[in-house]
Amino acid sequence: MGVSLPVSALYIITGALLIYNFILYDLLRYCTWEDREPSPRTIGRIVTFQISADLFILATILHFSGGIENPFVFFFVFHMILASILRSTLQSYLQATLGVFLFGAVVVLESRGVIAHYELTNFAGHGLYKDATFIFGFLFVFTITLYLVVYMTTSISEQLRKQQDGYERANILLKEKDHVKNEYVLRLTHDIKGHLAAIESLMNIVDDEITGPLNPKQKDLVERAYRRTTKCMAFVTALLKLTRMKLTGQLEMSNFSLKNCVFDAIAAVQSRAKDKVIGLSCEIDPSVDEVHGESVLIEETLTNLLFNAVKYTPQGGKVRLTVRDHGESIVVQVIDTGIGVPEADFARIFEEFYRADNARAVERDGTGLGLSFAKQVVERHGGRIWVENNPDGGSTFSFILPKTTA
Ligand code: ADP
Repeated sequence: MGVSLPVSALYIITGALLIYNFILYDLLRYCTWEDREPSPRTIGRIVTFQISADLFILATILHFSGGIENPFVFFFVFHMILASILRSTLQSYLQATLGVFLFGAVVVLESRGVIAHYELTNFAGHGLYKDATFIFGFLFVFTITLYLVVYMTTSISEQLRKQQDGYERANILLKEKDHVKNEYVLRLTHDIKGHLAAIESLMNIVDDEITGPLNPKQKDLVERAYRRTTKCMAFVTALLKLTRMKLTGQLEMSNFSLKNCVFDAIAAVQSRAKDKVIGLSCEIDPSVDEVHGESVLIEETLTNLLFNAVKYTPQGGKVRLTVRDHGESIVVQVIDTGIGVPEADFARIFEEFYRADNARAVERDGTGLGLSFAKQVVERHGGRIWVENNPDGGSTFSFILPKTTA
C-alpha cells in the first residue's frame, strides 16, 4: 500500500518474538516430558509470562509503526480474551491494566516527544499523535474496550468452569456408585453361587439314583431342574468373574506362552464343535511366542470367542482362529461362517447383558456377559477388541494385544 515503515526495527522485534516463543515451547515440552504433569501454578506462570511478553511486543511494534495511528491496536483484545480464558479474573484485569499502561505510555511519550514517532506515511493523517483531545478520546475508548472484554470473557469462562466442575463431580459420584453396585453384585453372586453349587451336587446324587430309583417322570423332572441349575450357575459364574475384574482392576501379569493358551482354548470347545459338525482350525504365526499378561484371563477370552463362534454357527459350518505377529503386538481373530452380527449392534454387543435379536432367535441360552468380559480383559491389557462381518457370511471377532503391557 506504499506505507513506509521502519522495517529493520520490526524484523528485530519479530526475531525476538520468535526466539522467546521457541524458548517457551521448549519449556512447556520440558515440563510435560514423559507424561510429567506440571503443577497448575507452573503452567499459570508460563501463560502469564507469555501474555505479558506478547503485550510488550505488541506495544513495541505499534510504537515502530505509527503508534496511535495504527489500527492494529485492536489486537490487544485477543490477548485479553486469552488471559480471561486461561487465567483468573484478577490476573485478567491485571493484564488489561498492563495493556492500557503499555499502550498509554507509547502514546503519551510519543506525543511529548520523549520517544520518536514513526509516521505511517500515506496512511493516516499526520499530527494526530500530538492532538490531546484525540489522544484522550482514543485512550478512553481503548481502556473501556479492554476492561469490558475481560469482564465479559471472564464471566462466560467462569460459568463454563463451574459447569465443568459440576460434570467432574458428577463423574466421580457415578464412579463411586458404580463401585458400590459392583461390591453389592459381587457379594450377592458369591452367595448365590455357593447355594447353586450345593443344589447341583445334591441333584446329582438324586439323578444318579444313589438315594433310590426314580420313575421316568421323576428322572425327567430332576434332569430338567439340573439343566436349569447348570445354566443359572454359568450365568452367576460369568457375572462373578466380570464383577471381580471390574473391582480389582489389577492384573497379575507375567510372561506366558500365547500358543499354549490358544491350544487349551481350542481343546475346551472341541467337543462342542464336534457335536455340531463344525470344522475347527487354527493358524499361528511361527514367531508368536511369549506375551506379557494374565494367561488365565487371556485363555478365558479366547475360549469365550471360540465358544460364541461355535454357538452362533449352524451345523456343518467352519470356525477358524488366527494369531498373527505384528511386531509390537499380536492380532487374534476368530472367524466363523455363522449368523453374523447386525451392523447396528457392533458396539452394543460388548455391553453387559446385551444380546442381538438374531442371536436370541437361534439360541435361547446366553448371558450377554462373555463379550463384556472379553472387552474388559483386552482393554486392561492395553489392547482393543472389535467385530466385523465377513463378505461371504459369518463374523470375525478380532483383538489386538500389545506384547509388552506397562
Ligand atoms: P451370549 O453369547 O451369552 O449372548 P456374549 O456377551 O458372549 O453373550 O455375546 C453378546 C452377543 O454378541 C450375543 O448375544 C450375540 O448377539 C453376539 N455374538 C457374539 N458372538 C457372536 C458370533 N460369533 N456370531 C454372531 N453373533 C455373536
